[in-house]
Amino acid sequence: MSTKHDAIVIGLGIVGCACAWALSRRGLRVLAVGDAPIGGGATAAGMGHVAIMDDSEAQFRLTARSSELWMALRDELPSEAAVDYCGTLWVAADEEELNAAKGKHAFYQKRGVRTEVLDETSIAEAEPNLRSGLAGGLRIIDDSIVYPPVVCEWMLAEVVRRGGAVRFAHVTGATRTRVQLDGGDVIDAGVVVLAGGDVSARLCAWLPVRPRKGHLVITDRYPGFCRHELVELGYLKNAHSHAAESVAFNLQPRPTGQMLLGSSRQYGVEHEEVEARMVAWVIERAKLYMPRIGSLRVVRAWTGFRAATPDSLPIIGGRDGVDEPVIATGHEGLGLTTSLGTAELIAAILTGAPTPLDAAAYSASRDFGGHDGH
Ligand SMILES: Cc1cc2nc3c(=O)[nH]c(=O)nc-3n(C[C@H](O)[C@H](O)[C@H](O)COP(=O)(O)OP(=O)(O)OC[C@H]3O[C@@H](n4cnc5c(N)ncnc54)[C@H](O)[C@@H]3O)c2cc1C
Repeated sequence: MSTKHDAIVIGLGIVGCACAWALSRRGLRVLAVGDAPIGGGATAAGMGHVAIMDDSEAQFRLTARSSELWMALRDELPSEAAVDYCGTLWVAADEEELNAAKGKHAFYQKRGVRTEVLDETSIAEAEPNLRSGLAGGLRIIDDSIVYPPVVCEWMLAEVVRRGGAVRFAHVTGATRTRVQLDGGDVIDAGVVVLAGGDVSARLCAWLPVRPRKGHLVITDRYPGFCRHELVELGYLKNAHSHAAESVAFNLQPRPTGQMLLGSSRQYGVEHEEVEARMVAWVIERAKLYMPRIGSLRVVRAWTGFRAATPDSLPIIGGRDGVDEPVIATGHEGLGLTTSLGTAELIAAILTGAPTPLDAAAYSASRDFGGHDGH
């Protein structure tokens, strides 16, 4: 049977768009299919922080490579993508957290990432609206922010320019080379990639991916109120623990002057509603670090769902001998950052294109500890 498309990518979030774009850049004719707007899903809900992380070597390698790829792309992206190299400031509330910051600094330095330890005085100078008495922090100099929906639009425009196509439809079934759409249409391709975010398991039931709800809050415009993406060091405990609910202070200055405030994590909540209790928790947590936050006018709050895996690493690649799509999901709270590294890996797996990344740590065949994800 002749195939019309070299590849079909399911999902028009940042991971699907990046995969479609990377494959089309390597000469494949790609059809991108999704049941939500381009850049919708978790992508529309996320903060847009591109962060190099150090929780594990595998996470470091994927985030660091992705950060390089974001850096290389910055001049190609339209200005509406709002790329800003504001850096991340991890805030240490006490000596114990400052020691953790110093440990992270050593980790990053060894691997060539530009970081700087701040003491009590220098963090107060860097961010005057932080409360006094904080122990210090760690600045990750080359971390940035971006507005993902615009990047998605730009990527798919490139896909179309290279002979690919975009189709808005719900996929009801998928194999390695075929998708079935709501309404009955069947489309064949050389290969199918599933980038369906937190609901990917509806097409591939074994996937150990669970939705993890998050709330974000955005204020009116207060230019200069904050200069870096600020994150409390306790954030890592929250992101890693599998507690039912948690909130950590995370503030991002948008290029508009608005302050974007996060972030919460909840398992077991499937509805999208904004919960007043969670919004209040996010704001109260932020006030512990920046008391003046309480005087800013909040204009909007929303929710989104991260795709969480048992080992906090994404699932990238196909399982041998199983007639199912190649997988690109499970990026939890780092999918914007890691979309470009993921796409590079998918392109390497499918076309043999070079990548410095070793796919093994993200393999769909790895041991998830018997976790069935539900
Ligand atoms: C509150 C919050 C804050 C975050 N902040 C950051 C951050 O600062 N930095 C960062 O790196 N990451 C962040 N993230 C994570 C990031 O947003 C996600 O990891 C990323 O957007 C995932 O992209 P995706 O393309 O895999 O999934 P999605 O964006 O969810 O896209 C998947 C798409 O696939 C579609 N789809 C699924 N199944 C089907 C089907 N059967 N047929 C057709 N279409 C289908 C869905 O409708 C959806 O549109 C945050 C997430 C949240 C919730």
